[in-house]
Formats: sequence, structure tokens, C-alpha cells
Amino acid sequence: MAAMQSESAGAHEALMQFLYRAPIGLLQTTLDGTIEMINPMSASLLMPLSRNGDLDNLFTALEEVAPHLRQLVVGYEPSNGAVCDSLRIVVPARGESAAAAQILSISLMKLDELRLMGLVSDVTLEVQREESGLARRLDAAARTDTLTKMPTRPVVRDRIQRAIERARVEPNYDFAVLFMNCDRFKQINDSLGHLAGDEVLGLMANRLRAALRRRNRGDRTADNEAMAGRLGGDEFVVLLDNLQAAEEVHAVAQRLLDVLSQPYSVLGQQLHFTASMGVVLRDHVTGDADAALQDSSIAMVEAKRAGGARYVVFEPSMHERAARRGGIESDLRRALLNHELFVVYQPIVALQIPEGADCPPSHAAGVEALVRWRHPTRGVVPPLEFIGIAEKCGLIGPIGEFVLSAACHQFTVWRRELGRLAPRLLAVNLSRGQLGDSSFVEIVERILRSSGMQPSDLQLEVTESLAAQDESVQARLQQLKALGLSLALDDFGTGYSSLASLHQLPVGTVKIDRSFVSEAVSSAHHHVLIEATVRVARSLGMGTVAEGIETQAQADLVTQLGCEKGQGYLFSRPLSAADLVLWLARNDAPKAS
Ligand code: C2E
Ligand code: CA
Ligand code: CA
Repeated sequence: MAAMQSESAGAHEALMQFLYRAPIGLLQTTLDGTIEMINPMSASLLMPLSRNGDLDNLFTALEEVAPHLRQLVVGYEPSNGAVCDSLRIVVPARGESAAAAQILSISLMKLDELRLMGLVSDVTLEVQREESGLARRLDAAARTDTLTKMPTRPVVRDRIQRAIERARVEPNYDFAVLFMNCDRFKQINDSLGHLAGDEVLGLMANRLRAALRRRNRGDRTADNEAMAGRLGGDEFVVLLDNLQAAEEVHAVAQRLLDVLSQPYSVLGQQLHFTASMGVVLRDHVTGDADAALQDSSIAMVEAKRAGGARYVVFEPSMHERAARRGGIESDLRRALLNHELFVVYQPIVALQIPEGADCPPSHAAGVEALVRWRHPTRGVVPPLEFIGIAEKCGLIGPIGEFVLSAACHQFTVWRRELGRLAPRLLAVNLSRGQLGDSSFVEIVERILRSSGMQPSDLQLEVTESLAAQDESVQARLQQLKALGLSLALDDFGTGYSSLASLHQLPVGTVKIDRSFVSEAVSSAHHHVLIEATVRVARSLGMGTVAEGIETQAQADLVTQLGCEKGQGYLFSRPLSAADLVLWLARNDAPKAS
């Protein structure tokens, strides 16, 4: 009996030791949290939470970090079961300690109507591991572009950097960076929507990969084959590694441009467009990967400026031109404040004599307002050099507003002072950046009111890609028309919507682009196109203006083809407001002279 007793005492002692040493916190409390039993691990994990240094009640100890625990128990109705499972609580680091917060996991189990059993463990390391795993996954995601499954900028940069470093120690190692950008991507996005744009990007990526795969076959290892990545938007970069011969760059560059310019079939449509490329050769790489990427993009811009659909090899002299363009942006910010912008006016003349009249009512059927920039050191900068930049850097809003306001005020002054001689219609160019602004309609309304301009005397010129844009732009164009003004389609023929879709555009006038007018006399094709445009426009009740008339032969031809109005250097170059008044006086009743 004594032996049995001592045997059971031994077992009891062993059980106590087991619970005592368990590397996990165990405790038992009453339902109101009073701690009845607690093992050393529990005590050491929970003690830092106790404010007065004792551990009488679990809920009191956890009051600050898990105030809802008490409620959780009260609200738990079954007579037994898990009240909470692996609840994570953060124990803030106290005092000066630089250690990170500790994270505890607590599970509470209702044993019966009187008692709870608790399990406490330190999960700080586990949480840290989870977090670093998440960080790794996020990092991996950041290294692959979701849309094209191509490596992203950081990866491209790393690879270029490695190539640069290798070239420093291996004189025979050769590489090149090819930077590509599609020539009309913005237009595709604007007119067909972002989904179509995304699809095009995916197709471009596939083609680049396929073209490079062909090159990579052979005796290359994974680490030295060409890689293609996407930097963002429609910008792609290829690193040609381990070049065998200098001519290889030219062959690959041309092949990539060729595959990119094959037609794309997207949303049931065949899209045709080309790409431009800038190439940086090893010998011109003087800085790091970022500098090489920047230089390749500078060469790409040169390729675009030369007409696109080509590659241009970077040369250091290109830096100067790029700096000039960059300088324009910062100067443009000051230009408005310094009153460096001004507006000139190009007459638009009536070509057809109205039936029953001897001569046109006024030679100036209208004027088109064109912005100019008198730069303090560069002289007069043409709009084509800064409108695009203004759109990119968000300055087009204020610039467009300035032009509209100046032109409307000038127009009402002419009306007041010149009477019969004054131009009938004021045309002002609109840019896509302005239509994106939700307050634009209000701005126009305010300018009409403050200048006293009749809305019907104002015509806003939009391009095809703008007029055919998404619903929000369409709605805004309708709101503008509701103000009583009219819209004209600028540069017709240069975009890619056709005569057949003219009726879908909310415009009252079609301006036939200068490229058609200048070819019309010598090219039957252009001649026929103008004729067809005039006919379709007329059938839709739209007016027509032939742009860029430079010779009498062109004027005679477009008049004979039925164009209603004409504009061009033959009649007048764009003039200052004062010179326009002289021009109007000189050209009054020209048939009478
Ligand atoms: P656009 O709207 O097509 O304007 C007509 C352009 O053709 C003007 O160039 C005009 O000077 C030029 N031009 C007119 N007749 C002839 C001709 O017989 N021969 C030749 N070779 N050219 C002729 P400009 O003023 O340099 O403007 C270029 C473009 O810049 C404009 O093309 C328009 O798209 C844009 N632009 C000008 N002013 C503004 C503005 O205030 N706002 C916006 N958003 N764009 C503007
Ligand atoms: Ca225009
Ligand atoms: Ca035009």
C-alpha cells in the first residue's frame, strides 16, 4: 500500500514537473478570469503585461492589449468549447528597449460552467517569418509585370547594371540596350479604351519574347541571353547581352521593329501601328544602368522626332537637344506668369460666293486663334514644340484657358470696333488635357460671360482621336454644345476614323488637313478624298474648311470641289490682333477691286 502510495506520489510529481517545464504557457481561471493555476511559461509571457506586478486575473492583465477578451467569454453561451483560438495579441515593447514588439497567441477553452483553460505561446518568430515570406512574395510580384509577365524596371536595371560591371573587367564583352515605344499607343488607348490598350501591350510583349527566343537558341546559357522587360506604359526594353558582332545589334533592332509593326487584331479590329527605338551601345555607356536607360530613351525620342518607325543609335550630342526640351518644361511654368504667351489669328476665308450675292459678305469668314510663346532667350517658340509638353506636365489647362479668354475678349473688341468688317466666327483649338478637366465646361461658360461673346460665334476645334473618345469625353462635348457653341473636327484625314464614322462625331464642321490639300493638285487619290469628304460632310449638314492652302491652284481646286471655306498662307499667315485689323481693311470686298 505504501509502495502504491509512493508510486502515485511519484507519478503526481512527474506530472507536475511535466506541466512546470512545458515550453508552452498553460493556465486555468474561473469564468471571471481569476487565475487558479498557472505554469511558469504562462507567467513569464504574461507578466510583462501586468501593471502592478501580480497576476491575479487574466482579463485585468490583458485589459490594455485585448480589452474584448472578457466580453468574448461572457458572450460565449455553450457550457464548454473553444472561446477563442490562437488570438494574436501584440505586447508593445516597453521603455527604452529597442526590441520589436512581442506577439503572443492565446487560446481559451471553456472547460465547464466554472472554469477556463488557457494556452499562451510566443509567436513572434512565426509572425516575423510570415511577414518576411509575404514581403518576398510582394517583391517577386514587383519584379514581374502582371499584364505582360515580363520583368519590371528593377529587374531590367539590375541586369543592365551587371552588364555594365562585367564590361568594365572583360574587354571583349559587348552588350546593347534597346528602348522601344509604340508610335500611336495613346491614340489606341484614347479611342478604343484601356482594355484594347492592355491587349495590345500583351501582344507586343509576346512578339518581343518570340523574336528574342529565336536569337537565344544556340549556345547561350540562361544568364547571358537577351532579356525583354516592360518599364511601364508602352515602354519596353531589351538588353542584348554577349553580342558576337557589332552588326548583330542592327539586325536585332530592325527585326524587333518589324515584328512590332505587324497588324494587331484586337477587339475584332485590325490595328496598324509602328514602334520607335533608341539604342545605346556599350561604348557609349559611361554611367550606371539608370543613365543607360535614360540615354536609350533620349535616342528613342529622336527616332520619334525623325518620323517614328525606326531605331536611332544614341550619341552624346543628343543630350543637348534633350536638355533643351527639358528646359522648355520649366520655362513654360514661368511663361504664363511672365506674360510670354500671346495669341495670333489666322483668317479663314469664304470660298463659295453665296447664291444671289455679288461678293462674300466679309472676306474673313472667321479666324483661328493660335498660341505663340515669346521666350526671353529662344525667341518665338512654335506651339508644336510646347503644346505636347504642356499636356504632359499638366500646364495645358491654364494655357488653354488663357488662349480662350484672350481670343474671346479680342473677338468682342473687333465686333464692337469694326462692325461689318469684323470676323464672323472665332475658332479656338482644344486639347485633350482640357477636356479631361471636369470643370472645363464651367470655365468656357465663365469666359463667354465675362467677354460678352455670343456662344454661337465660338467654334472649338478638336481632333479625331479626341472627338471619338470615351463616354465621359463625349458627354463633355455635348455639354459644350449645349452652351450654344459649335465644334469642328481638326486635321481630318490624319487620324484613323474614316468618312464612314463622321456621322458619329458631334461636330458641325470638318477641317480637311493640310497634307491632303497640298497633295490634291498632283495626286488623284487626294483629290478624290477631298471630294468625298466634302460630299459626306454636306450630306450630314456639316461645313468644310480646307487647311493649309498655299497656292492659287490649291485654292481653285478646293473651291471647285465644293469646300466652303479655306485657310492658309495664300490668304494670310497667322497675324497679331493689330495686323489682322489692317488685313481685314485691305481685303474688304476683294471682288470690287
Ligand atoms: P492646327 O490647329 O492645325 O493649326 C494650323 C497650323 O497650320 C498653324 O500652325 C498654322 O500656322 C499652320 N498653317 C496655316 N496655314 C498654313 C499653310 O498654308 N502652310 C503651312 N505650312 N502651315 C500653315 P501653328 O500655329 O504652328 O500651330 C500648330 C498646331 O499647334 C496647331 O495645328 C494646333 O494643333 C496647335 N495649337 C496652336 N495653338 C494652339 C492652342 O491655342 N491650343 C492648342 N491646344 N493647340 C494649339
Ligand atoms: Ca486647329
Ligand atoms: Ca488643323
